[in-house]
Amino acid sequence: MDAATGLDSLFAFDNTYARLPDAFFARLAPPPAAAPQLVIVNEQLAQQLGLDPRLLASPGGIGVLSGKVLPYGAEPLAMVYAGHQFGHFVPQLGDGRAILLGEVIGRDGLRRDVQLKGCGPTPFSRRGDGRAALGPVLREYIISEAMAALGIPTTRSLAAVLTGEEVLREMPLPGAILTRVASSHIRVGTFQFFAARGDVDGVRRLADYVIARHYPEVGRAANRYRAMLDCVIERQARLIAQWMLLGFIHGVMNTDNMAISGETIDYGPCAFMDTYEPATVFSSIDRMGRYAYNNQPSIAHWNLARLAETLIPLLGSDKEEGLIEARAAIDAYPSKYEAAYLAGVRRKLGLLQERPDDLALAQDLLDRMAANKADFTLTFRQLCDAAVSVEVDAEVRRLFDAPAAFDGWAVKWRHRLASEGGNAVERRTSMRAVNPAYIPRNHRVEEAITAAVDEGRTSIFETLVQVTTAPFDDQPGSERYAEPPQSHQIVHQTFCGT
Ligand code: AMP
Ligand code: MG
Repeated sequence: MDAATGLDSLFAFDNTYARLPDAFFARLAPPPAAAPQLVIVNEQLAQQLGLDPRLLASPGGIGVLSGKVLPYGAEPLAMVYAGHQFGHFVPQLGDGRAILLGEVIGRDGLRRDVQLKGCGPTPFSRRGDGRAALGPVLREYIISEAMAALGIPTTRSLAAVLTGEEVLREMPLPGAILTRVASSHIRVGTFQFFAARGDVDGVRRLADYVIARHYPEVGRAANRYRAMLDCVIERQARLIAQWMLLGFIHGVMNTDNMAISGETIDYGPCAFMDTYEPATVFSSIDRMGRYAYNNQPSIAHWNLARLAETLIPLLGSDKEEGLIEARAAIDAYPSKYEAAYLAGVRRKLGLLQERPDDLALAQDLLDRMAANKADFTLTFRQLCDAAVSVEVDAEVRRLFDAPAAFDGWAVKWRHRLASEGGNAVERRTSMRAVNPAYIPRNHRVEEAITAAVDEGRTSIFETLVQVTTAPFDDQPGSERYAEPPQSHQIVHQTFCGT
């Protein structure tokens, strides 16, 4: 390592996962990319993590981001996990195309994993090549950064590089590596890996690690494993509520794609809805609609039950007691989810007070939107202005196939707003802080990816990232990014591209 370039101090790694027993991972150095080339460095995130963005973008930094140079302090490893994939249990999965370099402590004092995704095969690659194509890498970059800006807990994207190699999918495609940053990469499936082997010590070791890293507040609870489970359930309930409130569809909610930290993880065929249709499925591999938009809350419940099962031996003094604790924890999920959803939907509608029929009011709007193919994001965004001026109703009604469908609801809504009083301008401001103007719409994501992959042009990608990472701002000149697709632009299917 050349000290003169400053690379030695690029990451101040402080690794803890690498201290866990060997059964938790496989150590290996990332295979070097042939001819790496930088696509993007996330300067803001780099700064948040205490990293020098210029150094990251330097030839030495690009070497690190592409696996060519192992940075000082890295202890590269691939994590092992298991998981239910579309309901079927697979006892061993693991990082098949990702290598954890190590952990850094950000300026905010929080510990985060730094991982190279798409850098080549690992012992867990099974039949895969361990690589990633540029398209899915850009897709994850765009969507994860937009999610973060929308205030949704998520893994982040620190950088993307081209490897200079081709990966073979249906056709040869440019290979790329995403540098992913996460609170941790521990999944429901990580617990399942040890539980499936009857390795109670492994489960306990993992749970203790998770408590120390993610839920230190439960450390002293009488039943600390139950307290940890409650915390994970709470975070997941809130996460899924946020997805639902913003029209996000994950697409592959397998238990190995559910993070214990409560962050959104593993962006594959995910997408935001344009028109509000609760049964929407984009993923080409989700033929039964298991992970449809409106199934997400109950799928999360199911996944969390799988997590609870792994903890049964730790939850009580015997199996029966453990089962009772597990069940009680899991049974609390629906009310946690509903509370998070209801609080969020109140903010979306500008309801300052809590009233018993709030959910019915929201559902009535959603039903009318569904029946009239209204654009999800635009309807709520324009509602912010309608809260101040009835004249804006014209804009909202236009989004409904039968505009009168909005009118019937608007009367009830206004009646409710009037009855609780409050300042209309303040209401608009608070509504605008939760109802985005800009989401990474599928047709824009496709457009950005196509230009980058087919023509090597990344300017559309960069613009899209810029626009969607300020989702709540009016951005004069960027209006077309707020618009729904025209009929010929609609993207009906998304692919994980692995
Ligand atoms: P996913 O559905 O993308 O979360 O991936 C499920 C599993 O397949 C994980 O264990 C991944 O590491 C693995 N995997 C996905 N794509 C590849 C690939 N190209 N090469 C090797 N393993 C992969
Ligand atoms: Mg995954």
